[in-house]
Amino acid sequence: MQAIAPKTTLIDLKYLGYPEAIATCLLEGDGELALVDPGPTTCLDTLEGELAGRGLRLTDLTALLLTHIHLDHAGACGALVRRNPRLRVYVQERGAVHLTDPSRLLLSAARLYGDQMQRLWGEVAPVPAGNLQVLRGGETIALAGRKIAVAYTPGHATHHVSYFDASTGIAFVGDTCGLRYPGYTLVLPLTPPPDIDLEVWPRSWQQIRSWRPERLFPTHFGPAGDVEAHLAQLEERITRWAEYARQTLAQQGSDAERVGWFLQQVEAELYRELPAEAVRRHLVGTAPEQCWYGLARYWRKRAG
Ligand SMILES: [Zn+2]
Repeated sequence: MQAIAPKTTLIDLKYLGYPEAIATCLLEGDGELALVDPGPTTCLDTLEGELAGRGLRLTDLTALLLTHIHLDHAGACGALVRRNPRLRVYVQERGAVHLTDPSRLLLSAARLYGDQMQRLWGEVAPVPAGNLQVLRGGETIALAGRKIAVAYTPGHATHHVSYFDASTGIAFVGDTCGLRYPGYTLVLPLTPPPDIDLEVWPRSWQQIRSWRPERLFPTHFGPAGDVEAHLAQLEERITRWAEYARQTLAQQGSDAERVGWFLQQVEAELYRELPAEAVRRHLVGTAPEQCWYGLARYWRKRAG
């Protein structure tokens, strides 16, 4: 646990034992206790232990603010609501259906993760519709002693929203602003299937810029300043990686070969920018071949 602003605490969920892979953020105030993206069910024991260190229980939580419903961000929602039926879950309207009925989400995830689903994510229980607070973007939520602005920020996912807490200057951006390790300035795109959209994405960054945040809080991993430089670097790198992916589609060969070529480019870039140890950890933890699958799907949809 690490206080990053008044009544605002980063919790490292130590996903599969890895530090600095998935962060959640605890917002406290006015007798309320909210988490921004509670993480997957496989991290619930860690979450429970971290809260206990502060004398808090899972049943003390009053709200979950979801940026999007991918399992690394929201997989634990159903299990949390079962233990705590008064919990409110904020979610964008297109994501809501996947919380009440996760079957399609699970099928889509199983295509990526195969027989590793249980080990990676654990149980994905449905959330009763009565617990949901459905968002469209544009709202302001009064929560945990502060006002939180909501914006619709698609690009990584069609149902992605971001949250801005003006009282701390922190924008909770989920995966809209890529991945960044604490202590490094390198920003990496997150472009997994199924609904990467490079055309709408820049508008989402513009929306986040318009808040003039002091810090971004990407789920992977934690608060980072120099917002302008972060966004500029991300935009430049996504454009380049998208171009790598597009070029592979023009080549003869199988998708496995195309992924291999894409990874060569990406890994060379990582080794130029990060210490070898950090690169190895990244390659194990984030499966960057999924960036190819998401980008390839985007280009093929456009061509089709
Ligand atoms: Zn994520």
